[in-house]
Amino acid sequence: MKRRKVTAAASVALALAVTATACGGSKNDNGSSGGKKITIGIKFDQPGLGQKTPDGTYTGFDVDVATYVAKQLGYKASDIQWKEAKSADRETMLQRGDVDFIAATYSITPEREKKVDFAGPYLLAHQDVLVRADDNSIKSAKDLNSKKLCSVTGSTSAQNIRDTLAPKAQLQNYGGYSECLTGLENKAIDALTTDDSILAGYAAQSAFKGKFKLAGLKMTNENYGIGVKKGSPLKAKINKALEKMVADKSWQKAVEANFGPANYQYEPAPKIGNVVK
Ligand code: GLU
Repeated sequence: MKRRKVTAAASVALALAVTATACGGSKNDNGSSGGKKITIGIKFDQPGLGQKTPDGTYTGFDVDVATYVAKQLGYKASDIQWKEAKSADRETMLQRGDVDFIAATYSITPEREKKVDFAGPYLLAHQDVLVRADDNSIKSAKDLNSKKLCSVTGSTSAQNIRDTLAPKAQLQNYGGYSECLTGLENKAIDALTTDDSILAGYAAQSAFKGKFKLAGLKMTNENYGIGVKKGSPLKAKINKALEKMVADKSWQKAVEANFGPANYQYEPAPKIGNVVK
């Protein structure tokens, strides 16, 4: 957790709190002492999942999940500091302690688990491609081998194309998926590839209405986890919060609110700890 600078008044308060604990008081460290902030990494350019709007608010399913989790950890929405976590930066941000946790369409993979820990999964998505509405040439992953693709550095989407799905494709990677959209529109690229959850959000944007469509390939399983620093006690607490979010129907409300407008056919809530291969 990030701490504010310790002021003289805060030091006194801290000393009193320590005394209270020593005397058997049971104040927990998430108590409402005021001023405590939590820093959470999200995407800023993925409508429906994590988006920073022009008026400076944050919306999307990841934002709702993160806000719910933060509340269970003892933080009000106003205690949250949102930070952009681009695909390629996520492990480093957690390792450096730049953020307390990351909820940013972050797939749980064995490779990433060497560097960070994951709570969840809290959503199951699948890699797909977004193409121009009149393009019917992509029927399977193999068809991508002759295409110009756009994706993002440090994503499973880019890695899967290179490693297994279509190693011969011409693949161009950017820092964020939204950077691929103009290229798709003006035919500099043939397709944008990443999770169907993300692509559905772009296709539904009013600026692109009727211009793009998903091919519907479901090429992989992407199990979204909440990333924390390796060994962090937050993992267990976040898993508890996610279980509660599903049980009290907040999860269902959040998927409907965020994916409904894009008509994204989301999978049912995953079981915590059950990563689908
Ligand atoms: N879920 C995939 C990943 O974690 C693709 C989306 C993203 O880049 O955030 O890499």
